[in-house]
Amino acid sequence: MNNRIFRRITEKGGAMAPPLFALEGENPMSEHPTTIVAVATPAGTGGLAVVRLSGPEAFGIAGRVFAGAGLPDKVESHRAVHGTLCWPKEGPANTVWPPGSPVDEVLALPLAAPRSYTGEDSVEFYCHGGQIVADTAAGACRAAGAEPATAGEFTRRAFLNGKISLDQAEAVADLIHAESGLAARAALKQLRGGLDNQLQAIEKPLLGLLASLEGSLEFVEEEGIEVALGTLTREIESAIERIDRLVAMAPAGRLLREGIQVVLAGPPNVGKSSLFNALAGQEHALVDHDPGTTRDVVTARVTRDGIVFVLRDTAGLRRNAGRVEEMGIARTLEEIDKADIVLALHEAGGDDASSTVLASDGVVLRVATKVDQIKGPGTAPLAGKNIVLTSSKERTGLRELWEAMQALAVRFRLHEAASVGAFLNERHRHKLSLCREELNSLLAELSVGQTTPPAEVVGTQLGLILAHLGEISGRVFSERVLEEVFQRFCVGK
Ligand code: GDP
Repeated sequence: MNNRIFRRITEKGGAMAPPLFALEGENPMSEHPTTIVAVATPAGTGGLAVVRLSGPEAFGIAGRVFAGAGLPDKVESHRAVHGTLCWPKEGPANTVWPPGSPVDEVLALPLAAPRSYTGEDSVEFYCHGGQIVADTAAGACRAAGAEPATAGEFTRRAFLNGKISLDQAEAVADLIHAESGLAARAALKQLRGGLDNQLQAIEKPLLGLLASLEGSLEFVEEEGIEVALGTLTREIESAIERIDRLVAMAPAGRLLREGIQVVLAGPPNVGKSSLFNALAGQEHALVDHDPGTTRDVVTARVTRDGIVFVLRDTAGLRRNAGRVEEMGIARTLEEIDKADIVLALHEAGGDDASSTVLASDGVVLRVATKVDQIKGPGTAPLAGKNIVLTSSKERTGLRELWEAMQALAVRFRLHEAASVGAFLNERHRHKLSLCREELNSLLAELSVGQTTPPAEVVGTQLGLILAHLGEISGRVFSERVLEEVFQRFCVGK
């Protein structure tokens, strides 16, 4: 336990302070004195393509490839200038682009450190949106001395330069990969400090306690806790409460990222595939085949009101050939087990089969199919039973079924997670649960016996808790964690 480290956190902690230290090795920023370049826009043709340069030589390199109003030093930061991007006059020979030949007409936007995404001197070139143009523009920058950027390197530099916290960097990846409006909203809120605020609300009182404990160690001869036991207990309990509130939103993070898994289950011929097609087709969903070990599971991703639902139709129950059917059933049970929502289908007028799937951890919605066959008084026995009545043939009850599924988003806390910006991932959840364990054991120690534990012992435990919290925001980080976080990024981000 290194208390010196935590003293530094106490002194300097703050959302936008550069990360304080790496757990292993040197600050990796020292390994990056280079200037990097990449095409920041997706491959293919488009209206525009953006080439991004960042690093100490960004202005110098831009000056070697840009002929227009004078980069590197006669141009105002944050003001775009029009000119021609050329292959550099000096540099490696190129058979297509002779030295000094024009590559494209561009706008160049110089961004002086620290007011750039990375916190370094940066230049963005807005080119015509062709793949060759953009690649050649980046190639010209490389020929003029820039290094090719690796995946996520711009964001990694932004983190290492203290422009964003690690959870904000993760939010950038989530924002880019968001498949639904609610996921994008959650990611943007986290990017704007939503999660960081929550973490700081946990951290700050604990840092205060740590500072008082350290004060008591330095100024008091005898080993006793200066902080009143009551205060200590209260603060720890409140930290536990806040962590629990955050952890409760972790499942929402997964659902925002992966979509809500909806399995259609029921006996053969009940109308699963028809309902699946009615639900998916209605929304022009992408239907694909997810090869399974026994039979295919057909999936369709459907976005409704900002939420992705992944419909899963298990087709394995229809064969009567013993072993094949058994394998199909096993696969279906597996699907039901992993589901967030199970649509338990039974034929209107037939037996309600929902009891077969009620063992699922997911939420079960009971659905009667083919109600067109028992119109009128025939549906009376189903009334008031919390069963959604549907007919895929006549396309009735589909809106009600969607509404029932959307109502569950409230139970899954998706909107809550989006509005506070807690788009938690497995890394966050794991660290929060480690904090929770440490806080619990500290609380248990404080409540046992009359003797108060020595300040040093409590301080060490608090330090450990703060280290776990610090790893979420990246105020404490290791190269391994950075690798894990930035591998999700694309080149140019
Ligand atoms: P699965 O085996 O559960 O996937 O069931 P299917 O979707 O393949 O449907 C089985 C049979 O029921 C087919 O002949 C469908 O045409 C019929 N069916 C499905 N949905 C409806 C419906 O809403 N109304 C009526 N009348 N028939 C339906």
